[in-house]
Amino acid sequence: MSDSAFLTRRRMLAASAAGAVAATGVPAVASAAVHAEPSLSPETDVTLRWLGNNSWEITGAGKTILIDPWLTRFWTGTYTPEGASPDIEIESDPRLIDPYIGTADHILVTHGHYDHLTDVPYIADKTGAMVIGSESHLNMIKALGARTDKLSLVRGGEAFQHEGYTIEVFRSSHSAGGGKLPFPGTRPGKPPKRPKTIADLVEGDSLAYLITIGGVRIMNFGSSNYIAREIEGLRPDVILIQPGGTSTPSYVPRLFKALGEPRYVIPTHWDDFDEPLTEEAVDWGGLAALQEAVAQASPRSEWVKIDHLERFTVR
Ligand SMILES: [Zn+2]
Repeated sequence: MSDSAFLTRRRMLAASAAGAVAATGVPAVASAAVHAEPSLSPETDVTLRWLGNNSWEITGAGKTILIDPWLTRFWTGTYTPEGASPDIEIESDPRLIDPYIGTADHILVTHGHYDHLTDVPYIADKTGAMVIGSESHLNMIKALGARTDKLSLVRGGEAFQHEGYTIEVFRSSHSAGGGKLPFPGTRPGKPPKRPKTIADLVEGDSLAYLITIGGVRIMNFGSSNYIAREIEGLRPDVILIQPGGTSTPSYVPRLFKALGEPRYVIPTHWDDFDEPLTEEAVDWGGLAALQEAVAQASPRSEWVKIDHLERFTVR
């Protein structure tokens, strides 16, 4: 979940996000940043499809990589004034997943929260994809009943070469509204008892990923935070970035200072996921402030907003 879930009103949320952007006070970030290659010549069509929230399908070179696939979108109240109740029961419904998930080679888990992890066991078993996650993420996936043994435990710092693509893993940090991590905790050792509620799916450490496929470098974070020193000097062509970040110091400028100015910036995790995936995404209130902040921090990047289930092919 995003730190936005802990703010009570969308109007307050939008205002505070804009305030954070204006208050960063970091001038001339763009001139300090390094621009990626001016034009891409992908070796193959590389296409990103947005499946809502931070769920992405990345295809290229005959391979498919999923990030945080969550299609069930059971009602949570996350973006209501009251926020999500911790005792809401989680569910994973194949009828809502199967229309959108076919084959997959890899599933990347950024963290353990309900809007990221809940459908991973079913999708892992359905596709036979290798799942990458922390010890806690993999333990919760097992506890949810996954039968697959294709589970790759990482800590951050790993790099994996596969046929046609590489996956690099980085230690990351979750956003923390009010300075407090939502649903914190880890699940080391043996798998816990079966998670039943959204509070049972703890963050379990956060990871960021750099995927290189067809010569295109794509960076994703699961929430509006990162560890700058872990990603310093990476030069992705595409950054998937989510709104919010009001609890992260100079959230957007510092990120682009670390990563340079990518060719494309695509917003993610900006939809109210209590609304259906089959309809146009409903902005929970952070999108405009994010776009403005990106324009200031990385003016040469192209802002590519796509809607639910739409695709963007990197050129
Ligand atoms: Zn989260």
